[in-house]
Amino acid sequence: MLKEPTILALLIQTYGRSGKLQKGKQLHARLLTSAGWPATTFVANHLLSMYSKCGDLPHALSLFDVMPHRNLITWTAMITGYSKCDSLAAARMIFDELSDKDEVSWTAMIDGYAKNGDFENSLVVFRDAIQRGIRPNEFTFSSLIKGCAGGTVLEQGIQFHSQVIKTSFILDAFVCAVLVDMYGKCGLISSSTQIFEETQSPTNITWNSIVGVLAQHGCGQKAVEAFHQMVGRHVEPNHVTFVSLLVACSHSGLVKQGLQFFNSMQEKFGVEPRDEHYSCVIDMLGRAGRLGEAEEFIGRMPAEPNAFAWCSLLGACRTHGHKALGELAAEKLMEIEPENTGTHVLLSTIYAGARQWEDVKAVRRLIRDSGMKKLPGMSWVEVEKKTHVFAADDCSHPRKDEIYEKMEELWARIGEAGYVPYTGAVVSNVEEREKERILKHHSERIAVAFALISSPVEKPIIVMKNLRVCVDCHAAIKLIAKIEKRTIIVRDNARFHHFLDAGECSCGDYW
Ligand SMILES: [Zn+2]
Ligand SMILES: [Zn+2]
Repeated sequence: MLKEPTILALLIQTYGRSGKLQKGKQLHARLLTSAGWPATTFVANHLLSMYSKCGDLPHALSLFDVMPHRNLITWTAMITGYSKCDSLAAARMIFDELSDKDEVSWTAMIDGYAKNGDFENSLVVFRDAIQRGIRPNEFTFSSLIKGCAGGTVLEQGIQFHSQVIKTSFILDAFVCAVLVDMYGKCGLISSSTQIFEETQSPTNITWNSIVGVLAQHGCGQKAVEAFHQMVGRHVEPNHVTFVSLLVACSHSGLVKQGLQFFNSMQEKFGVEPRDEHYSCVIDMLGRAGRLGEAEEFIGRMPAEPNAFAWCSLLGACRTHGHKALGELAAEKLMEIEPENTGTHVLLSTIYAGARQWEDVKAVRRLIRDSGMKKLPGMSWVEVEKKTHVFAADDCSHPRKDEIYEKMEELWARIGEAGYVPYTGAVVSNVEEREKERILKHHSERIAVAFALISSPVEKPIIVMKNLRVCVDCHAAIKLIAKIEKRTIIVRDNARFHHFLDAGECSCGDYW
């Protein structure tokens, strides 16, 4: 039995950091029955932090209740615990009542907001901390940079990067990993890879970041190469690595390699495939149009596929016109995520593809009657530190006249360059001209037009979209990049597309 508090604390800390909650719980249970317990506040605080970091609020609370002595570390752990479990208000209450907060408590609150997608408040707390003379540490910067990645606010991320460069934190492997991730998520893959290359001794978190970034940007072969390098340097891959690797193979059509990785991950690397890995394989087979194999694979899975897998399969059925399997996937999705209208929309596009307008109408009616709201397509672009958001047909921007003028000009010029609108991408059974008008005013095109008239020529245009970029916009933006001689990067809900001035996309039209 381990009795030395320092060793105990170290062990608990490791379990907390690596998410090995079960092991931590076993140790806690053993401690409870051993002589010499109750533990010191020191050990109890470590246990509490472990439960909080792993998001086990019930255990954290029951331990907290029996702790005879509570100090700043105890309360800070509770801030983390509450914000991990989406109870930001409770976390904030503790934070506000704490006197003598140190940089760890400030960071816990900053991190809480950042992780919950509230980057604005995360920044407010950070500025407040600076004003009160708190010195941020490497964890503070990591949380802030992660927040920038989540909110895809590049300019702010670059500012934190330059602040970090002035400190020794730039040598911290974790800070480097979040920077690699942030630049990747914000679209600048070259900055991302550069930071990775400059990292002195990349850990598995840094490697995971770069493999993930390469996967998101559709650089499948490079992601596979990075993985081999990682293994070659004796850095152990974990389940996160394999998710990225499978996504990379999926997005680049490397089906054979992807299946090899999947089949060998447990045997060769001791990583047991989880739900998400199985789902990646379904996605991979679906994208490649190997729908029969995907169906067979589902039959062999130890558990039911998750929403991501069904959704991806439904998307693949739409692309490859496979109605029966599409209907099955839609049924399953409706069971798992009844409030997700995306399912109905995809299903209706399958029917539209098969020209079954009555079924399209029936699905539409279902959406309307159930009171579900269709998630509107939105695109946004950052220009001069301000994010400009556009919906389809959006006329709310102060520069709308110039934007629409630019769109008309682009429409005419890409037409001359050979663009033919693909009206099959429009679900409604309306006149061809109306379909063309709908396509012309998709949100990503408005965002691209706006960026073209408002951002300096030397800067790449980075547009984000909450839904998948449509086939027609993909074809149009390829030509827009070519005629305007600009690099246009579009991130949709699945991946990045780099449209280069040669008129090609990095995805090679495989997406
Ligand atoms: Zn479109
Ligand atoms: Zn593309």
